[in-house]
Amino acid sequence: LIELLDVNKYFGELHVLEDINLTVGKGEVVVVIGPSGSGKSTLCRAINRLEPIQSGTIKLDGQPLPEEGKALARLRADVGMVFQSFNLFAHKTVLQNVSLGQVKVRKRKKEEADQRSRELLGRVGLADQAPKFPAQLSGGQQQRVAIVRALAMEPKVMLFDEPTSALDPEMINEVLEVMRQLARDGMTMVVVTHEMGFARSAANRVVFMADGRIVEDRTPEEFFTDPHSDRAKDFLSKIL
Ligand code: ATP
Ligand code: MG
Repeated sequence: LIELLDVNKYFGELHVLEDINLTVGKGEVVVVIGPSGSGKSTLCRAINRLEPIQSGTIKLDGQPLPEEGKALARLRADVGMVFQSFNLFAHKTVLQNVSLGQVKVRKRKKEEADQRSRELLGRVGLADQAPKFPAQLSGGQQQRVAIVRALAMEPKVMLFDEPTSALDPEMINEVLEVMRQLARDGMTMVVVTHEMGFARSAANRVVFMADGRIVEDRTPEEFFTDPHSDRAKDFLSKIL
């Protein structure tokens, strides 16, 4: 579903993504881990075309990513993204946050969008929160809204960039549970996270990055029991 072929990206002199080759099949859950600065966020942003790349190809559903205009807006809807900071619109209600893109990009009628929003909010236990503003919600609730907002667009794939890193410990699980459910429902997912429990239980593959390269790309069992590279061994010894 997603293919990256020999992708290279630089920030000035800095080679942030180096010859990245990665394929994510439909329904696959790929967890991306690696030290700070290894290029994980840049990789996600490149897949969503929030960051241009200097060489190589990124394809979604066999098609190269569009450069601009309406096709790019559709791509952003097809590739849902959830960030560490929830990025909700502060001056819109929870319901408006979830409905807005459906109306603007997916061209749904407002009533239809609102109905769908309420249904999705209900599924993540937030039916009562629809009229509130983001600031009135806990971090875990806001992140569930952000997930629902992306899902409401009926994306082909969901990208998560450290979705639980900004949360208090007791709220992490409620967000991970929503993500586990999504995975069980067959959503294609790329997840940057330090939650190794999630990686072990939900991932089909673990991609380990260091210095802008993919160093390992294997099943969680293989990766956690027998990391090949010194970089991965070192990384695991620090976080496990
Ligand atoms: P973290 O675990 O800290 O989130 P990361 O693996 O997500 O790290 P990236 O955010 O992708 O890493 O950054 C990769 C490298 O690119 C880092 O060295 C970072 O400083 C650099 N970088 C990221 N964004 C920019 C930018 N807009 N301009 C210049 N350099 C950048
Ligand atoms: Mg990052």
